Amino acid sequence: MKNDTPEDLLAQATAHGQHAPDTLVPITVAHGDGIGPEIMAATLKVLMAAGARIAPETIEIGEKLYHAGHSSGIAPESWDSLRRTKVFLKAPITTPSGGGYKSLNVTIRKTLGLYANVRPCVSYAPFVATQHPKLDLVIVRENEEDLYGGIEHRQTDEVFQCLKLISRPGCEKIVRYAFEYARANGRKKVTCMSKDNIMKLTDGLFHQVFDEIRVEYPEIAADHMIIDIGAARLATRPELFDVIVTPNLYGDIISDIAAEMTGSVGLAGSANIGEQVAMFEAIHGSAPDIAGKGIANPSGLLLGAVMMLVHIGQPAVAAQIHNAWLCTLEDGVFTADLQGAGRAQAGVPMPFGSMDFADAIIERLGRLPERFQPVQYQQAPAMAQAPRPLYVRAPAARKALVGVDVFVHQSALNADALAAQIGASNTAALRLQMITNRGVKVWPGGFPETFCTDHWRCRFTAGTDSGEIAQRDIVALLGALTDAGVDVIKTENLCTFDGVKGFALGQGQ
Ligand code: NAD
Repeated sequence: MKNDTPEDLLAQATAHGQHAPDTLVPITVAHGDGIGPEIMAATLKVLMAAGARIAPETIEIGEKLYHAGHSSGIAPESWDSLRRTKVFLKAPITTPSGGGYKSLNVTIRKTLGLYANVRPCVSYAPFVATQHPKLDLVIVRENEEDLYGGIEHRQTDEVFQCLKLISRPGCEKIVRYAFEYARANGRKKVTCMSKDNIMKLTDGLFHQVFDEIRVEYPEIAADHMIIDIGAARLATRPELFDVIVTPNLYGDIISDIAAEMTGSVGLAGSANIGEQVAMFEAIHGSAPDIAGKGIANPSGLLLGAVMMLVHIGQPAVAAQIHNAWLCTLEDGVFTADLQGAGRAQAGVPMPFGSMDFADAIIERLGRLPERFQPVQYQQAPAMAQAPRPLYVRAPAARKALVGVDVFVHQSALNADALAAQIGASNTAALRLQMITNRGVKVWPGGFPETFCTDHWRCRFTAGTDSGEIAQRDIVALLGALTDAGVDVIKTENLCTFDGVKGFALGQGQ
């Protein structure tokens, strides 16, 4: 089987008079690794056959680039194409395991400010076997923040740290996007999922911003669930949900679960939307276990491409492809991952390869599904173009420095002995108030049962009546601790903002 390049397909389509070159929208295309080239070839074949008015330009990303020494899997010149076209259709890539390699997906999302990851998950019962025939929801995952900052440090022999960053602009953008998406796409409810019962400041901010913004959308129902029960309900009663908005890590996990519940992870596409650039892809990876066999399901990438067509203002072509794709499912045309369901339904010889599946979609272009609701896309529900109020920075709060957490690497002493050693460094301005180990208070009044690592957080607060300290008081304390031979790993300032504590209490404090 010959895989035509996008440029070949474009030349063929133009030669057949399918579109005039001056109406073509330039897009950047990457064929990726593993099954990437196979499903991209199938996807582009369908797009071109449907008359998508696109002018793809190809860039190389992934394994080859990693091994050529580009630690993020992309060559510097490829950014030029992405910044020029502002639209990226991307096949999955393989991230080499081991240190030294950064995730290309995370790099692209963050570098290009693709803050919203939109993952529609739909069941196609009875044609695709699923235990959840009514599943039809969209997960709007925050795409830039949370634990995906990649800010990790080894701090002691025993303890490694990953920094979880949640910002107000990040929360406002993603929550507003979720409501705008619901409004533009006729969705009725937005559910926020967070873990703010534990992470009161970070996830607490996400939930608080959700509560602030939901009142601007009175026609859309809104609720909040703790992520653990939310994920459990999603797995058992997905019909409870419509749009889910959630921080990065939770969204990553629950969107794979929801996609798999529809019958195959190979069925779901996703859009990564930013203020200026957008990227469209399948949610699955490069599936090295089936690469090169021509059997991968191209549906996820194809549905990502359908979202791209809507985004670039070609909703009629998008709907035509989507409806033809639904017809193939109704006709029992399946790739190997959905084989069982197809056999049961239609008795069609199984399985279809990736390219045969694409041809089956092309044969059905122009048809509407009979059992599924035909898809209609309106002109530009394109969220990147939907009006969104710009983020307006609030006036700065009055910030007061009231203490410092000093993190210490120490393996020889228990909590009481450490308190005696550290407490000897108290200054006039700062006094040891508490020691925790992995967040649990171990001094004063710790429990002998508490397991302690070599990583201690020593909280110093003001020894003065005003409660406020100065930066130089921290410097003086660090000087005293260093003189006493204490291995200080790092410090975190303790501040109040307009009198409200900007730090969590120790567990047991
Ligand atoms: P995967 O999604 O590639 O595969 C998981 C399972 O699903 C495999 O059994 C695979 O055969 C099957 N599968 C996936 N897509 C399929 C399709 N279209 N048709 C039929 N079956 C399909 O996940 P993995 O194996 O954990 O990861 C493989 C590689 O992909 C890793 O290097 C990972 O880093 C990378 N990855 C890339 C992306 C991306 O580029 N967006 C996303 C996730 C993982």
